[in-house]
Amino acid sequence: MAASAAPDSAAERIVIQNCAIATVDANDTEYASGHIVVAGNRIESIGAGRAPENLDNVVRRIDGTGHLVTPGLVNTHHHFYQWITRGLATDHNLFDWLVALYPTWARIDEQMAYTAAQGSLAMMAKGGVTTAMDHHYVFPKGSGDLSGAIIRAASEMGVRFTLARGSMDRSVKDGGLPPDHAVETLEGALADTEATVKKHHDHSFDAMTQVAVAPCSPFSVSTELLKQGAELARRLGVRMHTHGSETVEEEQFCKELFGMGPTDYFESTGWLGEDVWMAHSVHMNDSDIAAFARTKTGVAHCPSSNARLAAGIARVPDMLAAGVPVGLGVDGTASNESGELHTELRNALLINRLNPVHRERALNARQALRLGTYGGAQVLGRADNIGSLEAGKLADLVMWNLGTLAHSSIADPVTALVFGAAAPVTLSLVNGKQIVENNRLLFADEDAIAVSTREEARRLARISAQA
Ligand SMILES: [Zn+2]
Repeated sequence: MAASAAPDSAAERIVIQNCAIATVDANDTEYASGHIVVAGNRIESIGAGRAPENLDNVVRRIDGTGHLVTPGLVNTHHHFYQWITRGLATDHNLFDWLVALYPTWARIDEQMAYTAAQGSLAMMAKGGVTTAMDHHYVFPKGSGDLSGAIIRAASEMGVRFTLARGSMDRSVKDGGLPPDHAVETLEGALADTEATVKKHHDHSFDAMTQVAVAPCSPFSVSTELLKQGAELARRLGVRMHTHGSETVEEEQFCKELFGMGPTDYFESTGWLGEDVWMAHSVHMNDSDIAAFARTKTGVAHCPSSNARLAAGIARVPDMLAAGVPVGLGVDGTASNESGELHTELRNALLINRLNPVHRERALNARQALRLGTYGGAQVLGRADNIGSLEAGKLADLVMWNLGTLAHSSIADPVTALVFGAAAPVTLSLVNGKQIVENNRLLFADEDAIAVSTREEARRLARISAQA
């Protein structure tokens, strides 16, 4: 039985059939062999067996034999600019790693931001990400229109995108972690954030670009910037994002400076709510998790970055049991050099099984897939229009090839996708438009980006060495 949306007879249709489908809808509906009809930028129908033969305006019929089709992956935490500072400070914890890298990051310019964004986006899109986000919080004086450059890179590649306009205004002189020359003023950060939202945020159902208000973290942002940032976001009707409860050092910092832990501090500054999602949330006690559940505050779980920086294991099974919305994040590629989201599906599953509290029942493959799709859509505030394959939703989907050596002997397709190696992407649609074909990007030259990102990484290293 196929579910259908109201037909649009004028729309061009793409039919995908003979494939396994994991819809990630509320009932986890799956089809061992099914079909999807895409009309324009929407999913028109989805169901078991082959698509009807008598559809109008079919421009393409795709045989999905040997493939699994899922919703496109949704990344909920990243720092694109870090693509040109990968592989540095590889044995540091978070605070030492930040202190080592801030001086380099404070030298980025518009060309570097654009090129690094291309590298980050290309890696994710090739790996089945259809909705990306970038938490960008380094805005050196005179560095140009960094937000505009990042948005341009996403739009050229065809990826759906949320820019979290970050900011820092608490430097060493105010008890913070970043050097004084790496931060903005309170007024400057708020004014440019507002201008960025007004210029680029699209409130519509099928928005390709959205903007969130995103002061960086308790140890790099003033209390006033958090408070006024929350007021700004709510006045403009956009979402709010920041880092929180990432490490024991951050918890100590909050207790010493504010006399409370991070979650209580966020609550006191207006930073819990259904319009907020927080990166990491590793060090959460029962009452922190209850506060997130009560307020429907979302979490971007970044297991690879948490492991790389020895931050700890986030209590994802407990958060899910309490009703906290959880998505997955690559995090910046200076703390997760792979830069693709499949690893996070796999690590979300595996790392929680290492937690002695949870053991083998921590998460299963379907829950991991849900975190990387619907959970991501939830925390970005887009669960009504992306994140699952349902008639009427936007056509953001991925055809994973499970017929190669890597997966062909694993019978269950979702198990193959999550437990197995990263599967090749035969096709990826965003807003009904194809952006990946047979593992190649259609709107970007991957080999050229490999060269330009290497050049920009060298230029940044050179400039920061001279500073
Ligand atoms: Zn981060």
